[in-house]
Amino acid sequence: MRKPISENIKTWAQEIGFSDIGFSNITHLEKQSDHLKQWLNKNFHGEMSYMENHFEKRTNPAKLVDGAKTVISVLLNYYPEKKQSANTYKISKYAYGKDYHYVLKDKLHKLLEQIQLEFPETTGRAFVDSAPVMDKAWAVKAGLGWQAKNSNVISRKFGSFVFIGELIIDLDLSSEIPDRQDMKNYCGNCTRCIDACPTNALTPYTVDARKCISYLTIEKKGDLPSNMQGKWSNWIFGCDICQDVCPWNSKLTPHNEKDFIISDLLQNMNKADWQNMDKAFFKKTFKNTALERTKFEGLKRNIEFLNNKKMVVK
Ligand code: SF4
Ligand code: SF4
Repeated sequence: MRKPISENIKTWAQEIGFSDIGFSNITHLEKQSDHLKQWLNKNFHGEMSYMENHFEKRTNPAKLVDGAKTVISVLLNYYPEKKQSANTYKISKYAYGKDYHYVLKDKLHKLLEQIQLEFPETTGRAFVDSAPVMDKAWAVKAGLGWQAKNSNVISRKFGSFVFIGELIIDLDLSSEIPDRQDMKNYCGNCTRCIDACPTNALTPYTVDARKCISYLTIEKKGDLPSNMQGKWSNWIFGCDICQDVCPWNSKLTPHNEKDFIISDLLQNMNKADWQNMDKAFFKKTFKNTALERTKFEGLKRNIEFLNNKKMVVK
């Protein structure tokens, strides 16, 4: 008997280095579309006006890829073995190594090429945060995890320190894809993430980005709001608090992706090194990393904000 196509794709994904993979038939994401509408209506997206764009495409990928039939969702573990040294300014673990957009896109393109070798007629596109795709919703639909109270997708095997990406393709796998209900939610009565968030940005399953350190340190332009002064310490790019406290992240297996390994330099930077950093050092050290998103000026602003000083750009 012929092996199901999805089984072959799983094997290739494993060979390429993805941690997990799942499949969904293309549907309109009605429930998630309502949730997104409510989130936007409450202005929880702050200045991320791009979240308002392409609403139809966001909830209906058939509008993104002609003839789309299947969403292939992938996870890539980024939980690091080596972390930043203690007592320094912290950056989110996802930003330790090479920018994940490059790494995931590269792997997704390899997977698409492999599928096209077997099925040359197939067309599709790879997405990593870069286009209007609701990646968490598709990952949940594909059975890779549940959307947790801290709003992250948690995989029972890999926790929540996982990148999510998708291939949307016109290959019809509907005869192989089970029609799933959302995966069971394993948060139970736990509220650790909500209790630990220093800025009260979390209500179960929803983040008010305007209060979230991750948004404030990365996406927010201009000055940081003075009512946030003193609410957190040491985070200068992102925030992992609501993930670090999660019991599902307490016994994780570190990733083995060489591109994500923290450099010795970054690992050992102390507070003085961060404070004395100049633009040339920033450009050289953080080229092709996620830190480029804030630019040098943004990172400096975040450091000065923690120190309650006016920003001085060297
Ligand atoms: S990332 Fe930090 S600030 Fe944002 S919700 Fe989680 S704990 Fe709160
Ligand atoms: S800390 Fe508890 S409530 Fe929050 S995501 Fe983890 S399991 Fe769910």
